[in-house]
Amino acid sequence: MQLMYNDKKYDVVVEKKRGQKNTYIRVKKDLKVTVTTGLLTPHIFIERLVNDNYQRICKMIDFQETKVRNNNGFFYLGKQYVVVYCDNEGISFVGDKVYINNNFDIDKWYKKQAKKLFLERLNTLYNSFSRKIPYPSLRIRKMTSRWGVCNVNTHVITLNLELIKRDVTYLDYVIIHEMSHLIHGNHSNRFWALVGENMPNYKKYRDEMKEF
Ligand SMILES: [Zn+2]
Repeated sequence: MQLMYNDKKYDVVVEKKRGQKNTYIRVKKDLKVTVTTGLLTPHIFIERLVNDNYQRICKMIDFQETKVRNNNGFFYLGKQYVVVYCDNEGISFVGDKVYINNNFDIDKWYKKQAKKLFLERLNTLYNSFSRKIPYPSLRIRKMTSRWGVCNVNTHVITLNLELIKRDVTYLDYVIIHEMSHLIHGNHSNRFWALVGENMPNYKKYRDEMKEF
């Protein structure tokens, strides 16, 4: 069994234990949704339980993912910070440390920063773009397999929220890449020439982004 959330698949593991009377659901550190139940619990019951508790499970996944991410460090604009939990409201950066309290919603904060910065960079790069293109509208969301998407019909450019964690040059590269699709819908030589026209050293960033 698997559960879909934010474009990602999470495995649902069922642990059946002798003498287990209640059934409960946890999301473990490895991000597997684990259902612990008795030996005789029918599969249909477990499936229904998982479906009925979908929202709650998603919250548990968010919580675990934040925890995992914080253990890996807190990334913002290409810098890594050590998370220090404190009683203060809001967020403050001091050297290589970031101070937040337990209830701080990091994803919400990332989104807020991204909304401001991504639009600012989009406008700057749009104004200096080497060709006349329609002004694109911007969407931001979490994506797992792409940094950006351009809909050439609606002129909507969707950027991956994760870009807020990287150096701003990667964001610029993705914006230029997607804006270039408004002229060339494919990845032809002419497309790459246009990207190069607007970012001469784009190859470095293109190759590095493949490795993330
Ligand atoms: Zn492309």
